[in-house]
Amino acid sequence: VNIVHGCDNFCTFCIVPYRRGRERSRPLAEVVAEVEGLVARGVREVTLLGQKVDSYGHDLGPDLDLADLLTAVDAVDGLDRIRFLTSYPLGVTDKLIDRVARLDKVCEHINIPVQSGDDAVLAAMHRGYTMTQYRDRIARIKDGIPGVSLSTDIITGFSGEDEAAFERTLDLLEEVRFDVVHVAAYSVRPGTIAARTLADDVPDEVKKARLQRVEELQERVAAELNSPLRHQEIDVLVETRKDGRWEGRTRTNKLVHFPAGASDLRGEMARVRVVGPRAWSLQGELISAG
Ligand code: SF4
Repeated sequence: VNIVHGCDNFCTFCIVPYRRGRERSRPLAEVVAEVEGLVARGVREVTLLGQKVDSYGHDLGPDLDLADLLTAVDAVDGLDRIRFLTSYPLGVTDKLIDRVARLDKVCEHINIPVQSGDDAVLAAMHRGYTMTQYRDRIARIKDGIPGVSLSTDIITGFSGEDEAAFERTLDLLEEVRFDVVHVAAYSVRPGTIAARTLADDVPDEVKKARLQRVEELQERVAAELNSPLRHQEIDVLVETRKDGRWEGRTRTNKLVHFPAGASDLRGEMARVRVVGPRAWSLQGELISAG
């Protein structure tokens, strides 16, 4: 469910502000009505979407924000889970953290893109925060939301990223231990500030080698994070069937697969025991469903 369109930030690598325009939030009542309509048609989980989702409401009134919308959507009968993305780090306020922790239906998962672990690269990207500020947000999220899972986005080889700067990104991943890292090698988007003003000065093979190092580090970290889940029982909202196995997600957004039997479990909440935790997914066996 789209809740806020556009973006008022102008990160130098990003085309969104030019394509989608300024931030415009949909009225709270309209969003709630859409969610009620979806639930009436059998939907059990909604994801509230915005390029910068935590900007929600700022253009509607001085006191309205994403935390208030989550509270309103949480009250919709028949809904099981609420997600939201994508978060801008400084937009993850203490109030939002508190609501995610307290509202039953809001899943304890935050996608909080950092893009780089180096202050100079962040400044060249016009991200608008420092690593000190980012680390402070992460610490508050971890303190405030027990069992939270975190995902982030990384760009390797942005303009001016030298080896030392890249190493700081690796250090951050090692330190925070994100559950999922989406990584991309930098490629210039025509029409962006970076395309007009910054040199694309990291060779392609270096960008790709750095991407590979991020993936290798993250594969190890994710395997370590998922390993203790072996033998645990988890609730999985089943989404689809692939190659004789059901696929769904935990509240923490972890992908789960388990063998499909005769009954159709699509859209059901399944109780699953984890028998094979891996870096990118959890293999399980069905205990019960319904
Ligand atoms: Fe906005 Fe995100 Fe693009 Fe930055 S990267 S301009 S916050 S949409």
